[in-house]
Amino acid sequence: MSKWVTWVCALLFVALISTAPAYANTTLRVIASFSVMEELVKRVAGDTVSVNVIVPRGEDVHRWELTPPNVLALEETHIVFYNGLGLEPWIRHVEAMSDDNLTLVEVAREADYTPLIISTGQYKGELDPHMWMDPEGAAAYIDVIAETLAEHLPDQAEVFYTRAEEARKALDNLNLAVKERLEGIPQTNRTLVTSEAGFGYFARAYTFAAQGVWGVNHETQGSAQAMAKMSEYLTMNRPRPPALFFESTTPSIHMDALSREASIPLAGPLYVDSLSGADGPAANYSAMLHHNAEVMHTALGGATAE
Ligand SMILES: [Zn+2]
Repeated sequence: MSKWVTWVCALLFVALISTAPAYANTTLRVIASFSVMEELVKRVAGDTVSVNVIVPRGEDVHRWELTPPNVLALEETHIVFYNGLGLEPWIRHVEAMSDDNLTLVEVAREADYTPLIISTGQYKGELDPHMWMDPEGAAAYIDVIAETLAEHLPDQAEVFYTRAEEARKALDNLNLAVKERLEGIPQTNRTLVTSEAGFGYFARAYTFAAQGVWGVNHETQGSAQAMAKMSEYLTMNRPRPPALFFESTTPSIHMDALSREASIPLAGPLYVDSLSGADGPAANYSAMLHHNAEVMHTALGGATAE
């Protein structure tokens, strides 16, 4: 079958599934920009709202480009929950195709949670979008989601707020469990060196220092200048971090090179910008933070703490 025929078949299939009963029995259709947002929306929305996602698991939310199926799904949608603060540069294409029937919600900007500033790279000085990496940030997202859904479906407002309350409690418990798991890591070892500086909020929540080779994934990754700067940091800074980390949605080559050059072991992957598939170690938000804490605990000497 030629590529052209395959493409036409794919489009026909998408056209068929976009009119399938998945949407037919629901009154409100919602799309989340990436997998973490999808899960948080689903926790509040329950089964009566149709929730889809734009960026599939395992893909980098920063560098995504809208696909024909994305565009078709957006045409059928009432609300788009996206993180914002620059996380999804492609959202401008969604804005361009939006009309009065489509509400775009920039969740991180509306969240009642103190933002951090990006401290390195091309976007230095702008607000860091990775708020969900602190469960308290995720809880603030939950409130924005509940309020938005309640506005759209006032008769279900109470159930949305009840679910939001349950989600908040679960996030509080998760926060305590992660804190406990990280407790054994000595303060001198509490440095997270990653490819993208996506751990600022996590670091603030759990008393780590965080350094990235680049600020956010949509800038040039691993430029000579950024690599030299990190190399110098690893050479000059004392105490040296016991490990470097790579993330699931970034190639490990840059951290690998720094690891060899500085003779510091490389650990990972840490999950930040995407959950893993159902069989992976970060199949949901809670698993993602538990997995990250476990990787850090092992790599940063939590097990051998005095
Ligand atoms: Zn990121």
